[in-house]
Amino acid sequence: MTCIPPGGWPQPQSLYVHVPFCRHRCGYCNFSVIAGRDELQDQYLDAVERELKGIDNSSHELPLRTIFLGGGTPTRLSATRLQRLHRAISNAFPIADDAEITAEANPEDISPECLDALQAIGVNRISLGVQSFDAEKLRCLERGHDESIALSAIESAHRRVGNVSIDLIFGAPNESLATWQNDLSIAAASSISHVSTYALTFEKGTSFWSRRSRGDLSETDETLELQMYEAAQQQFSIDGWQQYEISSFARGATRCQHNLAYWAGRGWHAVGPGAARFVDGRREVNHRSTTTYLKRMLAGGNATDETEAITLEQYARELAAFGVRQLDGIDLSTIDNRTSIDLETLLAKTLTKLQSMELVTHENHHLRLTCRGILFADTVATALLSEPE
Ligand code: SF4
Repeated sequence: MTCIPPGGWPQPQSLYVHVPFCRHRCGYCNFSVIAGRDELQDQYLDAVERELKGIDNSSHELPLRTIFLGGGTPTRLSATRLQRLHRAISNAFPIADDAEITAEANPEDISPECLDALQAIGVNRISLGVQSFDAEKLRCLERGHDESIALSAIESAHRRVGNVSIDLIFGAPNESLATWQNDLSIAAASSISHVSTYALTFEKGTSFWSRRSRGDLSETDETLELQMYEAAQQQFSIDGWQQYEISSFARGATRCQHNLAYWAGRGWHAVGPGAARFVDGRREVNHRSTTTYLKRMLAGGNATDETEAITLEQYARELAAFGVRQLDGIDLSTIDNRTSIDLETLLAKTLTKLQSMELVTHENHHLRLTCRGILFADTVATALLSEPE
């Protein structure tokens, strides 16, 4: 069976750059992060320059439409270093004039100088790791800001770049529904235009994981977590807001173009420790340790740690599983045209079962989550990715 879609693999027009530096590692965080080692920043930039230079872009002449500087904390880099990073990106790729360029930042880092530096490299979307406005919850999450710092960061970033997104976490230890509702209403009253909400998860290797094992921290029960999720849906169903994906809400035309490219399986480049890319049908993940990444790249080697060529059937299933998480749903005949995999036949039993469980609707080739399905989106995605029973 051929492993290339009829129209070829999509040319990636997105780039993710992972900047691993953080002031401190928050107790719940299991990202690829290095805390208190800012002296490695120049080596990191050397390594990223090499990685960007090594990307074979000969058959990919289309310009980047989205760039996402994520982390970690990209704003740990000084203005000069951010300029150097931007130069390395623009030496490696043409960038579309209207490209969406996002930088993640922590609220306490948003100063006039930081905003100058981000604007100077064309950042037009800032994603702030707010997580909460509540003092006790922020203390528990080990965050370095308070409500007033977060609100002033949102306002300053909004005045400069307009498009501000925030991340909010729900289900923190001992958090009540009222605390979460207060977080939501403060967020909705601010000048953000996009919000992503996440349930706190306890990941192996984090200090929260060990503290939970010792009985120091407790997990929020599922019923309360569901109520919290529904509270976010309710809060962001008004005043021009729209939920467009399981965890994402946008006011006006501010859907995150970078994430939309991921979910549409359009392919993306990614550099930096732990960065995951999807290019020409191959998924690759870089080594997640910053020091190993630096050692390998600076020795002239390769940072890739895992690589997998995906089959067309996997690709088609992933397009359906990620596509259906978007509330507009997904057209299965479009997936058939792109991949020549007829999921409606391959997954006939699964689709019938998901419909009988009232988790999806399937009409005229269009698959969409029901209100109930939105609450059980992971079940739907898993079913679409699994072998038919
Ligand atoms: S600031 Fe963000 S990336 Fe850094 S440790 Fe905390 S949660 Fe992780």
